[in-house]
Amino acid sequence: MTKSDLVIVYHRQPYEEAVENGRRVYRENKSPNGIVPTLKSFFGRIAEGRGAWVAWKQVSAKQQEKFDRVIRIEDSYGNYAVSRLPLTAEQVKSFYHVTSKEALWPILHSFPWLFRYENADWNTFREVNWLFAEAAAAQAEDDALVWVHDYNLWLVPKYLRQIKPSLKIAFFHHTPFPSPDVFNVLPWRAEIVDSLLDCDLVGFHIPRYSKNFADVARSLRDVEVTETVRVESGMSPSGMALSEPDVPVRLSHKGRSVNLDAFPVGTNPEIITELLKGEPSRQIQKTIREELEGQRLILAVGRTDYTKGMKETLQAYERLLERRPELHGKVKLLLVSVQAASGMKIYRDTQREIEALVGRINGRFTNLRWSPVFLFSNAIPFDRLIAYYKMADVCLIAPLRDGLNLVAKEYVAAKQGDLGVLVLSEFTGCAVELPQAVLANPYSARAMDAALDQALDMPEEEKRERMRAMHQNVLHYDVSRWARHTLERFGEIGEGLRTKP
Ligand code: UDP
Repeated sequence: MTKSDLVIVYHRQPYEEAVENGRRVYRENKSPNGIVPTLKSFFGRIAEGRGAWVAWKQVSAKQQEKFDRVIRIEDSYGNYAVSRLPLTAEQVKSFYHVTSKEALWPILHSFPWLFRYENADWNTFREVNWLFAEAAAAQAEDDALVWVHDYNLWLVPKYLRQIKPSLKIAFFHHTPFPSPDVFNVLPWRAEIVDSLLDCDLVGFHIPRYSKNFADVARSLRDVEVTETVRVESGMSPSGMALSEPDVPVRLSHKGRSVNLDAFPVGTNPEIITELLKGEPSRQIQKTIREELEGQRLILAVGRTDYTKGMKETLQAYERLLERRPELHGKVKLLLVSVQAASGMKIYRDTQREIEALVGRINGRFTNLRWSPVFLFSNAIPFDRLIAYYKMADVCLIAPLRDGLNLVAKEYVAAKQGDLGVLVLSEFTGCAVELPQAVLANPYSARAMDAALDQALDMPEEEKRERMRAMHQNVLHYDVSRWARHTLERFGEIGEGLRTKP
C-alpha cells in the first residue's frame, strides 16, 4: 500500500456516493462551496498522488466484514485514498449525537447550562477516536503530516503520538473555543488539553479562541507562553473586544513547542461570481425580484441549532412589526433554518420553537396580500441560496455564538458591492473581520431593535461605504488565502514537508 504524505482526518466524507446502473459509484461533491473542496486542494499542494482522507461511515455490525475500508477516489483534486471507518449505529449515537453534541458542543458555544453529562460515554468517545488515529496512522508515512479537524476528534492527536511518534500533527477547530471558566466544566478537560498539546500546530478561526485555549492550557498544566503577537484591537458597540492585544502563538510544554494559529476560513468569491453570472441564477434572481413585488427582503440563514439565534431573530422581527406598522406589506423575512437530520431532542425543540414563532407572527400580521415571514426548513442548493443573497436588502445573522459564520461572508461576496446591509452578531468569529457590519448583541432586545432600525433606515451612501469595505475584506481573505496561510504554517512545523503554494 502506498503511504501518504498528508492525511486529512475529518468526520465528513470527501465525495458523494450514488448508485448508477446498479453499480455503486463515488463522485465529486456537487456543491462547490464548503470546506471539503478546499481541504482536498491540499492534496495537490502537499501530497501529489500520495494523499489520504479518513472519515466515518455508519455500517451495521453484520456488514462490517464485507465492507471496503479503503477505497481510491479519482476526481479533479487528484487520486487519493479514503479510509472509511465503519461505525455501528450505537457508536455513532454515543460518540457523535450524545457525547459530542450534548456534552462538548454546549460548552464550546458557552451554553454550560445545556451541558449534559449523564448520557455521555467517554469510553466510547475514546474508542472511536482511537479507531480514527489507527486508520490515519495506517495511511501515513513516518514523517507525514496528519491534519485533524474538529472537536469530536480531540483525542486523535494523543493516540497518533502513541502509535507513530514521528508524525507531524496539526489540528483545526471549526468551532469557537471558550475561556477556562466555561471549558473547565468538562470533566475530561485535562485529557483533551493534553491531546491538543501533543500537536505541532493547533489552529482556530480568530485570535480570541487561541488566547482562550492558551488560558485553558495554563489553568490545567505547566504550560508557558513563549511567543505572542500583537493584533490590532477593536471594540464592538457593547464594548466587547473584537480582537486581542497579545495573542499567544507558541506554547512550551514538557520541552515541546506547540504552535498556535488563528486565521479565519474564507469564501470562494470567484465561484460565487461565476454562479451569479450564469443563466440559471439570473432566472432565479428575476423570479425572486418579481415575487417580492417591491417589498424589502430580510434574509436569515443557518442550521436549526440553538446557537444560531433563530428564535432571537424571529422575536426581533416580530417586535419590528409591532413597533413600525408602516412597514407592514413592505418587508418580508425569509428564514432558512435547515433542520438537523439527527433525532436529537434539543434540535426538535428548537425546530418547534421556530415553527411556533413563524406561525405566531404570520397569524398576527398576515393579510390577503402579504405574509410577513417565510420559513424554509430544508437546505437550499448553494446556487439558489446565493441568488437570495444577491436579492436581499438585509442579511440578519444573529447567532448567540458561532465559530465563524460563512453565511455572512457569502452574503457580502454575493452582493458584489451592491447596496445591502449585514446585521451581524458580535458573537460570531467573522465579526472580527467585518466591523463595518451593523454589529449587534443578540442577547439584548434593545440592541437587536436598534440594529434592525439602523439597517432599514441607513442612507445609501453609508450602505455603499460599509459594503465596499466588507467586500474588499471578503475578496482579500478568501478561501485560497486561508489555504496559502495554512500551508505556510505547515512549512514551519514540517521542514521535510514537500509543500508548494
Ligand atoms: N448552506 C447551504 N444551503 C442552505 C443553508 C446553508 O448551502 O440552505 C451553506 C452555506 O452556504 C454555508 C454553510 O451552509 O456555506 C453554513 O456554514 P456556516 O459557517 O454559516 O455555518 P455552520 O453550519 O458551519 O455552523
